[in-house]
Amino acid sequence: MTDREKLKHKQRIVIKVGSSTITYSETGTINYSKLEKLVRIIADIHNMGKEVVLVSSGAIAVGRHAIGLNEKPKTLACKQACAAIGQAALMTVYKKLFSEYNQTCAQILLTKYTFLRDESYENACNTLHELLSMGVIPIVNENDTVSTAEIEIGDNDSLSAYVSSMINGDLLIVLSDQDGLYTDDPRKNKDAKFVSVVKEFDPEIFDMAKGAGTNVGTGGMSTKIHAALMATKSGADMVIINGDDMENIRAVMNGEEKGTLFVANKDENYDFRSM
Ligand code: GLU
Repeated sequence: MTDREKLKHKQRIVIKVGSSTITYSETGTINYSKLEKLVRIIADIHNMGKEVVLVSSGAIAVGRHAIGLNEKPKTLACKQACAAIGQAALMTVYKKLFSEYNQTCAQILLTKYTFLRDESYENACNTLHELLSMGVIPIVNENDTVSTAEIEIGDNDSLSAYVSSMINGDLLIVLSDQDGLYTDDPRKNKDAKFVSVVKEFDPEIFDMAKGAGTNVGTGGMSTKIHAALMATKSGADMVIINGDDMENIRAVMNGEEKGTLFVANKDENYDFRSM
């Protein structure tokens, strides 16, 4: 069986969507048709008997729109306020959409502390496992209203790798505004070549990834590569795909050549919590 074919048999899947995928970049408002497709596909995957955890950004983007702010919040307090407003709004939409497909979702908000403190870690881990065993779809975000620089994970690419590692996920799918990893930033270099599979993290891999690009999102290719390192060392395959077309998720699950696949390479001595 090829590495791609193996993806058909993954059982515990973490899917990460960023703000730039689920909102309109010009306005920061929710792209309902995309969100609807995402939810339908997740509901389908769930109906196949697989477990799915969704890591969704968008709280700050949605919150800032609600108060009429046209740019990224500059102060920590403003960012936290936007997240508080937007997280509730986002969950309301998810809850409505998932219930149309007879699925129950739940909100999980985590911070770096959750992973650093044994007690919090165990609690979060138990809650996630319990939800999965109940057939619920957990929707995870960082708890931005209490996160400050010292305790924040900061971007949801990393958060999704932490979550996948915590629950022993076997596949992490990260939606991006690009098709996957290129040898250089394809927006700047026309000769950049697409990388369809990564089996080893040579230093060049990190050089290939360039920083963030959008007005709404937080991560970029670089945070995704670091997330891939964590996820694969913890034993999961990770795929970066373009979130413009939600059908890419299904294609990956069907073992098709979509996006960049980072092949799992479990390291028994690797402690993701200390990263
Ligand atoms: N937690 C932030 C939010 O929901 C986003 C972080 C990220 O996009 O990486 O708005």
